[in-house]
Amino acid sequence: MQQNEQSQVVVIGGGPAGLTAAYELQKRSATHKPKVYEASNMVGGISRTESNNGYRFDIGGHRFFTKVKEVEKMWHEVLEDDFITVPRLSRIYYREKFFDYPLKLFNALWNIGPYESMRILLSYFKWQVRPYRREESFEEWVINRFGGRLYMHFFRSYTQKVWGIDPKEIRADWAAQRIKNLSLFKAVWNAISGSNDTTSLIEEFQYPRLGPGMMWEKTQQLIAKQGGEVHLRAAVERVNRDGNRVTSIDVKHWSEDGSAPVMERVEGDHFVNSMALRDLIHAFDPPPPPEVVAAADKLKYRDFLIVTLVLDHADPFKDNWIYIHSPKVKVGRIQNFRAWSKEMLPDQNTASIGMEYFCQQGDGLWNMTDEELRALASKELEELGLAKATDVIGAAIIRQPKAYPVYDGEYRDALAVLETWISSLENFQTVGRNGLHRYNNQDHSMLSAMFAARNILGEKNDVWNVNVERSYHEEFEVKKPESNLKPVLAAE
Ligand SMILES: Cc1cc2nc3c(=O)[nH]c(=O)nc-3n(C[C@H](O)[C@H](O)[C@H](O)COP(=O)(O)OP(=O)(O)OC[C@H]3O[C@@H](n4cnc5c(N)ncnc54)[C@H](O)[C@@H]3O)c2cc1C
Repeated sequence: MQQNEQSQVVVIGGGPAGLTAAYELQKRSATHKPKVYEASNMVGGISRTESNNGYRFDIGGHRFFTKVKEVEKMWHEVLEDDFITVPRLSRIYYREKFFDYPLKLFNALWNIGPYESMRILLSYFKWQVRPYRREESFEEWVINRFGGRLYMHFFRSYTQKVWGIDPKEIRADWAAQRIKNLSLFKAVWNAISGSNDTTSLIEEFQYPRLGPGMMWEKTQQLIAKQGGEVHLRAAVERVNRDGNRVTSIDVKHWSEDGSAPVMERVEGDHFVNSMALRDLIHAFDPPPPPEVVAAADKLKYRDFLIVTLVLDHADPFKDNWIYIHSPKVKVGRIQNFRAWSKEMLPDQNTASIGMEYFCQQGDGLWNMTDEELRALASKELEELGLAKATDVIGAAIIRQPKAYPVYDGEYRDALAVLETWISSLENFQTVGRNGLHRYNNQDHSMLSAMFAARNILGEKNDVWNVNVERSYHEEFEVKKPESNLKPVLAAE
């Protein structure tokens, strides 16, 4: 780099991680210029907000909640007064009944009956006395904390729906990141005393009034205003390297009018990636050693689709969302977008209901036509007693590949190989959710990106360990793993 010249920082992906890397860099340095390349036609990645006839909807509802101060600060710097505070209301639908979620003692007892409640308690004691010694799978982790009977009722069928595989094959790591750190006794005490463990339980959350996409569209504008570049419809196809230095990327610029795509080679001094690790490894030219490619091929993803139905009358339920444990229907979770923000709907006499399906690219659900999916979602809404299929007056369908990085038996070893190889590249970092194959929400995806930007400016932060060391909000807190295998519950 010549003196007075700006250092070029190439960023792959315009989701929360990619945009945060660019934003952070600009905030801290006037001599670094970020250039973001986003494959799709909009920013925000999985945290974007789509719209259809004025109805705005998320790829699954996206709460804004974090314990990471710098992330919270950036949200408010960017969106200023555009956040609303939303009370959380959610329930579980199971055995034709609605259970409060988080579970409330009297509601759960009433729904499940005294006999079954007794069996749940006995099973809990049994597993407290004789827990699984090795706690490696999701199933073992949950049973050791909640007992086998409660696991069977409230975890098994839903987990099966989310992942499409037996919960025995899912690593305990996922449970540790997602399930509230609440013992059965604590839950009972909370229900009786009305107290709440606010460190682990979110009763309200922030939300941009026009959905999460608003945050990322505004960030995009701020980056451009500061002299950075955000290119849409720009898919990174190659990451070119010379030994352990990345020299450039090859970008395919495509357009919606169907004209022939244009290839461009973009050189850079530093590179930050947020595309999925498996795709990244296949994009390197020359390719990494065969064992690294083999490790990348072991990473698996779960895909997702949402059918947003517009109803001819206002909300059929008050919840923000409902978990559907019932195996009789395919839908996994149902969103009510007005309960997130009224401004998500152009007409307050209608409802906007997001039917979420967990699936696999190429499977039966994924391959259904939009008309078939609309019909399925309308039928299931009626089967659940929430609205009539004939109430549906509009629908929009979004298929989201690689929505969830899978934590199966192979991923950790594979990730260790990838980390070692990528860390050997001197001017290249990978961040975010799929960029690290970590079950990160926006906040930790953003934090890893902030770290990467600061590393470019000379700091030494470990992007690979974000959301391992820091406690995490979703339902739960984790401390740094004691061993390679087992995340540890934070002391209550
Ligand atoms: C159903 C669901 C619900 C969620 N709920 C919440 C929630 O309530 N709160 C929360 O904080 N988080 C939530 N999340 C997580 C949140 O969506 C992610 O943490 C966040 O979007 C990750 O940001 P990212 O930038 O790492 O990745 P992504 O959002 O995946 O963005 C990556 C971007 O890179 C682009 N890209 C990929 N390949 C290329 C390429 N070759 N060239 C150029 N660009 C490329 C993609 O198009 C995408 O825009 C949820 C996720 C899901 C699936």
